[in-house]
Amino acid sequence: MKVTDYFKQAKSTLISFEVLPPLKGGSMNSIFSTLDPLMEFKPPFIDVTYHREEYVYKQRPSGYFEKTAIRKRPGTVGICASIMHRYGVDAVPHLICGGFTKDDTENALIDLNFLGINNVLALRGDARKFDGKFIPQPGGNIYALDLVEQVQRMNKGVYLDDTIIDGTQTDFCIGVAGYPEKHFEAPNMATDLQYLKAKIDAGADYIVTQMFFDNDKFFKFVDSCRAIGIDVPIVPGLKPITAPYQLNSIPRLFHISFPDEMTEELLKYKDDRKAFKQIGIEWCTKQSQELKKKGVPCLHYYTMGDAKTIKAIAEKVF
Ligand code: FAD
Repeated sequence: MKVTDYFKQAKSTLISFEVLPPLKGGSMNSIFSTLDPLMEFKPPFIDVTYHREEYVYKQRPSGYFEKTAIRKRPGTVGICASIMHRYGVDAVPHLICGGFTKDDTENALIDLNFLGINNVLALRGDARKFDGKFIPQPGGNIYALDLVEQVQRMNKGVYLDDTIIDGTQTDFCIGVAGYPEKHFEAPNMATDLQYLKAKIDAGADYIVTQMFFDNDKFFKFVDSCRAIGIDVPIVPGLKPITAPYQLNSIPRLFHISFPDEMTEELLKYKDDRKAFKQIGIEWCTKQSQELKKKGVPCLHYYTMGDAKTIKAIAEKVF
């Protein structure tokens, strides 16, 4: 079923989770051990992220270093199929532009369609660590907008090979990313919102937000979207702070900021890991309860492999 159909049918706020593919060499068990304890909350769908290959530098006998691409995590398509098979819920693979030619994307979409996976989250993708900034794949999509357009063309039966005249029409429901605190590369919020609107106008069906810790920023973001005619469901993405190092790493990695009140409270316990984590859990619980009360379609938790923490929150909210 499509993610947006779940939203239409739901009588109250739904819950969903995002999981990361295991690292190269890992097995599905790491995903199952994250998801097993969370399935009692009956998420209708589960997102699976996609991570572009990274480079390593290997020293050759000559002494020179050779740049070698390594694929850090196994592919999303197989992981999605396993999740659907084990739990009987829908899986939402993240599709990115980076590292994919349009042909690769088409092939991935054909595989997904074949497996009965008809939801995707269309993203540009992060920059590789070594590149410093996002570098599009030659022959690939540049922005998430281009990817949305490619999926929509397939939904109309239009494939890259224009000699195909009776192409199977896929029926993908497309989610896209939104940023309550602005995407870090956008010159300002208004411009970022216009690009977000372009993704919706091109046929994206719903938005999932970057994590945020101040609900007012989310509410303002929703109001700004509505004001420019973005009328699709907007799903808040949530993550609890659980360790002191995240006070710096999360703002650096995700380009977001922490509210004063939360930061002050966390800093009081920066030398007491247990108490620190408890404050993080309580903050996320409070955020979740308020968002649910306001009637958001779904609360989407970034699990990052930590089922226990997410479960502690979900138990209080659902
Ligand atoms: P876009 O919508 O393409 O926007 C990128 C930037 O370009 C923005 O600054 C935007 O304002 C600007 N822009 C957009 N369109 C245009 C245009 N036509 N002309 C000029 N500028 C434009 N990354 C991964 O690698 N794997 C994942 O699985 C993953 N999952 C994510 C899930 C969620 C819910 C979120 C919020 C993010 C996720 N990301 C993931 C991170 C995401 O890939 C990065 O934030 C990336 O930098 C931007 O992706 P986007 O889809 O928002 O890009």
